[in-house]
Amino acid sequence: MSHPGVLQDSYKRVIRDLRISITDRCNFNCVYCLPDTEEADNFFKPIDQGAKKPSPVPGKLIYPRKRRSQILTFEEIIRVIRVAASLGVNKIRITGGEPLLRRGVESLISQIADIDSICDLSLTTNGTHFLRLAKNLKKAGLGRVTLSLDSLDRDNFKKITSRDGLDEVLESIRLAKSLGLAPVKVNAVIIRGLNDHEIVRLARFAMDEGVIMRFIEFMPLDSRQAWQRDHVVSGAEIAERIQSKYPLTPLPAGNPSETSTRWSLGQGTAEVGIIAPVTQPFCGSCNRLRLTADGKIRTCLFSQHEHDLKPCLSHGSDSNEDLVARLQQIVLSKEQGHRISEPDYVQPASTMSLIGG
Ligand code: SAM
Ligand code: SF4
Repeated sequence: MSHPGVLQDSYKRVIRDLRISITDRCNFNCVYCLPDTEEADNFFKPIDQGAKKPSPVPGKLIYPRKRRSQILTFEEIIRVIRVAASLGVNKIRITGGEPLLRRGVESLISQIADIDSICDLSLTTNGTHFLRLAKNLKKAGLGRVTLSLDSLDRDNFKKITSRDGLDEVLESIRLAKSLGLAPVKVNAVIIRGLNDHEIVRLARFAMDEGVIMRFIEFMPLDSRQAWQRDHVVSGAEIAERIQSKYPLTPLPAGNPSETSTRWSLGQGTAEVGIIAPVTQPFCGSCNRLRLTADGKIRTCLFSQHEHDLKPCLSHGSDSNEDLVARLQQIVLSKEQGHRISEPDYVQPASTMSLIGG
C-alpha cells in the first residue's frame, strides 16, 4: 500500500514531478518526434531498410491527432494538478506538442502558479510563439523555461524541425534570460549523421550565452517508429566530443531524481547536462508521472499501458476521493525501469508529442 497522503510506488519512489502535455498539436515536424516531411524520409532511408513501418504516404499525417473533444480542458487539468499537489507533487512542467499553440495558456499558468504547494513551474517550448507570449507567461507566474535548439546552422535547423525558425529560437532564448525565467535550459536531441557534428558548437553556445545546454539521446518515441540504435549518440560519446575541445568537470546532482548528469564546462560558470536514458537509464530515482493531452496517466515515458483519468474527471464524478484513489492505484503500477535495451522491447504507440517530453 502506498503511504496515505503521498503518491508512492511499489519501489518506494515518491512522486513529486508531474509533466503535462496540454496539446498534441505542433507547428514543427522534428525528425525525432513527428517526422512527416520529405527531409525525414530522406534522412531515415539509409538505416530504415529493416524498419518495421512502411514509409508514410507523402502529404498524409502519420501521427493521428486526437480530436479536440478528447483533449483535457484547463478545468480538468487544474483539478488533476490540485489533487496531485495534495498528494505531494510540487513540480509541474507544461509541455506538448507545442504548448504555446494552446489558446489561453497564460491563464493555465496563472491558475497553477496560484497553487501554494507548487514550487517549481516550468514549460518546454520550441520557441516560435514565445516572443509574443513570454512577458505574459512571466507575469502569470511561470518560473522557468526550457527551449529546444538542435542546431545552430540555419539549414540544418530547418532540416531537423521542418521550419526556418533558428533566429526566432535564438531571440527567444535571449528574451527568456532577460525576463529572468532562469535557469534557462536549452535542449538538443543529438542524432548521428544529423547534428552530432554540432555538439562542440552547441557547447560553446552554452558558454557564450550563459544557458544550460542539455544534450539528449534520441529515444524511441518518434511517430514514425524509425528509431534505431545506430541513430543514438551515447551520452558518453557526447561528453568525449565536448571534452576534446573544452574541459568538463562533473557537478553534484541538484537533486537525486535529476534526469541529466551535470557538468561544468570550460573555466567559467557554464554548465551542460547530458540526458542519457538509452545508455545510462536513471529509472531507479525517477519521481515523475506524465499526463497526456487526452487525459491518460503514463507511469513511464516508455510504458506500454496508459491509465485513463477521464472517467474520474467527467461530470457526475465530482468527488476528489475517487481521483486520489485512482492516482494512488496507478502509481503502484509504475515500472521498476524501462526496457528499451531488451530484445523484445516494443515502442509505445503514443508519440512524444502526445505524452509530453
Ligand atoms: N514542442 C516543445 C519542444 O519541442 O520543446 C515541447 C514538447 S517536446 C516533445 C519536449 C522535448 O522532447 C523537446 O526538447 C524535444 O527535443 C524532446 N524530444 C522529442 N522527441 C524526442 C525523442 N524521440 N528523443 C529524445 N527527445 C525527444
Ligand atoms: Fe513539435 Fe516539440 Fe515534437 Fe519538435 S519536439 S515536433 S517542436 S512537439
